[in-house]
Amino acid sequence: MSEEERSFRAPKGTYDLLPPASFGWQRIMRTAMDVFALSGYAPVETPIFEHTEVFERGVGEASEVVGKQMYTFIDRGDRSLTLRPEGTAPVVRAVLENNLHRGALPVKLAYAGPMFRQERPQKGRYRQFWQVGVEALGIDAPALDAEIIELGTRFLTGMGVEVELLLNSIGHFDPSCRGAYLEELKSFLRSRSDDLAEDDRERVDKNPLRTFDSKERATVAVMKDAPVITDHLCSGCAAHFDQVRGLLDDLEVTYKLEPRLVRGLDYYTRTAFEFVAGGLGSQNAVGGGGRYDGLAQSLGGDPLPGIGFALGVDRIAISREPSADEFDHLDVYVVAVGDDAVRAGLKLATTLRRAGLGADLDLAGRSMKGQMKQASSSNARWAAIIGERELASGNVTLKDMASSQQQEVPIDRVAEVVRP
Ligand code: AMP
Repeated sequence: MSEEERSFRAPKGTYDLLPPASFGWQRIMRTAMDVFALSGYAPVETPIFEHTEVFERGVGEASEVVGKQMYTFIDRGDRSLTLRPEGTAPVVRAVLENNLHRGALPVKLAYAGPMFRQERPQKGRYRQFWQVGVEALGIDAPALDAEIIELGTRFLTGMGVEVELLLNSIGHFDPSCRGAYLEELKSFLRSRSDDLAEDDRERVDKNPLRTFDSKERATVAVMKDAPVITDHLCSGCAAHFDQVRGLLDDLEVTYKLEPRLVRGLDYYTRTAFEFVAGGLGSQNAVGGGGRYDGLAQSLGGDPLPGIGFALGVDRIAISREPSADEFDHLDVYVVAVGDDAVRAGLKLATTLRRAGLGADLDLAGRSMKGQMKQASSSNARWAAIIGERELASGNVTLKDMASSQQQEVPIDRVAEVVRP
């Protein structure tokens, strides 16, 4: 077996999240759940895999995600299961199954976890990626839409990601609203069929809205002349959208109306939005969301309106500069040479850790010089040096790593002195 054959690599489209980047990444996940909780969103965890039907019926068989990207497998019990490609359908399934919607409404839930889609990998697009998101179920008040959009904007801005918010309403599934519009769109697309990119022609009848998402130059040119949904909303959806916009103005959330914005998953109704950022190349959507008032019924449940968003953690991580405090967790690096000193050093590090401080020490038998180097690369604020002299006196030498100033401190007072 050749060297190459023997060495394993992470599967295509996946990557290992390694320190120090992993610290910044974890900060995103934690901060998201904390910020979402401030608006009343409680954490929820659903299984990483679901019955395939949850996505087929929820997300829609005509969508790219379900039609082309799912990791579906038959388990040993002959069940068709799918690694979740998104979080909304599973959360709605969980709400219905556990009757959460029989209590006070809205049900507000937040999640953070990996999703799986077999897409063509590129910068910002992976086969396993992470999302943080929220879902609010049970009411269709425009104020909930405004609240959720403000929450997404505030979180992303707080994380240091500069985003533009694109906003649209895509109406509801009814002949009086999106139904009539889709007929008009289809006849427009049929009349321009020869100008569309070949791959997009098959979408005309199957999923005409998706032609707005095409990256093919020929199709993009055609879509500039296409009728837009916002000119065809029924009076109910138009009034709802007006109110959402007014409320966003009240909250001083800046948005750009984008009448050609459609979302990749079929369950969306009414409000649809996307957060886009610079610096990400073609994968510039950091997150998106919208209303899905028909999703619960598609999953066989009671009518239950809902709205949510999902933000891509990988893309947030690419779009921001982490701050130094995300990496520096050590207050003290204990430098101890010789068996007795290491013994005292381990005890000191343990005392500091029990006091809630960050401490580490060398257990690999490095020289004094080697340990000072470790102390410096660890970014600890202090080095606590324990040598023979210190052992005899019961003191340690505390060195402030920034100023290089040293002081002698009794070993049992170190925690007090270094506490920030
Ligand atoms: P979606 O669930 O398709 O609405 O996507 C919401 C967000 O998840 C996107 O804006 C991206 O930030 C992120 N996302 C979706 N698919 C991928 C992927 N394959 N790789 C990385 N991030 C993704």
